[in-house]
Amino acid sequence: MYDIAIVGAGPAGLSAALFAAKAGKKTLLIDNDKGMTKRAWFENFYGVLEISGPDLLEIGRKQAAKFGAELVEDKAVNIVKGTDSLTIETEAKGSFEAKHVILATGVIVELAEQIGVETKPGTEPRIKTVLQVDQDGKTKIDRVWAAGTCAGVSVHATITAGDGAKVAINVISELNGERYVDHDVLQAPK
Ligand SMILES: Cc1cc2nc3c(=O)[nH]c(=O)nc-3n(C[C@H](O)[C@H](O)[C@H](O)COP(=O)(O)OP(=O)(O)OC[C@H]3O[C@@H](n4cnc5c(N)ncnc54)[C@H](O)[C@@H]3O)c2cc1C
Repeated sequence: MYDIAIVGAGPAGLSAALFAAKAGKKTLLIDNDKGMTKRAWFENFYGVLEISGPDLLEIGRKQAAKFGAELVEDKAVNIVKGTDSLTIETEAKGSFEAKHVILATGVIVELAEQIGVETKPGTEPRIKTVLQVDQDGKTKIDRVWAAGTCAGVSVHATITAGDGAKVAINVISELNGERYVDHDVLQAPK
């Protein structure tokens, strides 16, 4: 069983996967490559002078994989609730069980609507519908969280990536039973 499964490998989902895997959580990413980020060019991603969307996504995949996150390239078509877990069904690659699921599906809210996550109108251009989440990123469905564009944050990669990290930290903290932080310390030169 996975600790955290993330549907969507855009900046929100990849950032969530990086934090989850780096925290030692068994992490799964499911993505069907229909996101908006691969069409973008970035000159407003903090800390990066300029980068293409495809390069940003590729680096994100490598970062998450470095800490053990597994990627399944397929469409998630359903999420079924169990007693203490959720089962994510994919179109062609079978089913996967996880303790928590983070939806990071960008403008696509089809899966969330199908499983009964409440929605509301989006506020930014071309974002028609977003999911109802609380300040931690929780939907009203137990163990189902949402991050990034689908969770209604401003549709900019530095923000969606930050939101993915935020929600992952909240899930990790819930799993650990105490607040989690991930700080690496610069070693003093010898
Ligand atoms: C042309 C263009 C230019 C842009 N330029 C900029 C810019 O200069 N600066 C900036 O900050 N932002 C820019 N953006 C916006 C930026 O791309 C987004 O804010 C951000 O990347 C969205 O991240 P996300 O992770 O929420 O969604 P996405 O990157 O869209 O990722 C969502 C992922 O979820 C997957 N998914 C959805 N449903 C399923 C499912 N059922 N099963 C499996 N996978 C699923 C999709 O395939 C996709 O990979 C631009 C966008 C566009 C379109």
